[in-house]
Amino acid sequence: MGPDVTSSSLFKVQEGQRMLGVHPVRNQEAAEIDANRDQVLQDSEIRDFLIQRGDIPDLDKADVDVGQVVSDFKAHLRKEQPAALSAYHSYEEVATELEGLAARFPDVAERVSLGRSPEGREIWALHLSTGVRGGDTLSKPGVVITGAHHAREWASMEVPLYLAHQMAEGSTSDPEMRRRLEQGDLWIVPCANPDGYEHSRLEDNWWRKNRRPLPETGTSAIGVDLNRNYDDGKPEHATLYRPVGDLPGRTDDDFGRATSDNPRADTYRGPSGASEPEVQALIQLELGRGNIRGVLDHHGYGQMVLYPWGVTNKPVENLAEYRRVGEKMNKVLNNSFRVMQSSSLYATSGGSHDIHHANGIFSMTLEIGRSFQPDRTQLEQIRKSVAAANLVFIDEVLASHSNPTPTTPGAEEGYLLA
Ligand SMILES: [Zn+2]
Repeated sequence: MGPDVTSSSLFKVQEGQRMLGVHPVRNQEAAEIDANRDQVLQDSEIRDFLIQRGDIPDLDKADVDVGQVVSDFKAHLRKEQPAALSAYHSYEEVATELEGLAARFPDVAERVSLGRSPEGREIWALHLSTGVRGGDTLSKPGVVITGAHHAREWASMEVPLYLAHQMAEGSTSDPEMRRRLEQGDLWIVPCANPDGYEHSRLEDNWWRKNRRPLPETGTSAIGVDLNRNYDDGKPEHATLYRPVGDLPGRTDDDFGRATSDNPRADTYRGPSGASEPEVQALIQLELGRGNIRGVLDHHGYGQMVLYPWGVTNKPVENLAEYRRVGEKMNKVLNNSFRVMQSSSLYATSGGSHDIHHANGIFSMTLEIGRSFQPDRTQLEQIRKSVAAANLVFIDEVLASHSNPTPTTPGAEEGYLLA
């Protein structure tokens, strides 16, 4: 806020009729974008840059508000925050709201810290179930709902928070909500990446990774892509984190830019599998607790319901089940989403849903909204509709205790592309 951008800035962006200076710390980035070297960054140049960098996904598959994404990126270039900032909760506000829900509904809700981020923030979960204090909830099938692995995907934090409110507040008045809390052991983790989320809110709205310095890489780079860092340490699942033929420390064998060994890349997988404290904390809950049968992870954006695999375009063995549940979720989203295999958007490794699926957990990813930071009006609508889709997912897992046979895609193949 209050940036010292002046008319003396080297590069400018057009905002309506006005020309605004790019913040000096973004000059290097601006030089990359300025295709025709006129020192004015046209919307079309910015759009092409974001497509080339992967910040705007395949427009034939994802639903994208290109104008909004370009506009939010201009805020990044000016080192300002988008106007939508005030519509979103801070990390501290989330912590306080979860604490408040646990205090108001002590019979069904408790706030639990899953661990600490590198900068020392607690990774808070709201644990929801009847008998949550002192009772047996471990014998019930568990579902974990997560958000904000990626710092800049702000709406992905708001949906789980909204759901936490709905479930706790509905526990006394809504028989269906009560039933879910009686049947299930539910864990809602709105902010998987608290350091990154706060950095994105306050310093750089385009920040994606966590905020851990990476001295072990011998660079001054910061941050690992938490949704490329999942690994359970089982040798038979090693290729879910690092496909065969992809050598550590080499970037020429990274597939596209979707998962990288370059510490400076936005999609850096980390020095080793599950190297990051945030990922360790979530895996401990999701795989370690022993009763988790479903994991639903939120990301932004593109309006897609994604199911495994991300690492290969081979179909999962229970494809029909994933498609059935995905389409049912899409129905409450007014069929405004597309249901597809994750790898058909782009192949990734180390993703949350792959490692869960390989461990017999029914796991999907929602790409919500049409930009990283939807405005207040869009956010309102996203919260309600996507929370309804969450309830469909939870009901399906509780009804079937979906538990596909643990599998791994052909370990010898590495990325298998269409
Ligand atoms: Zn994401």
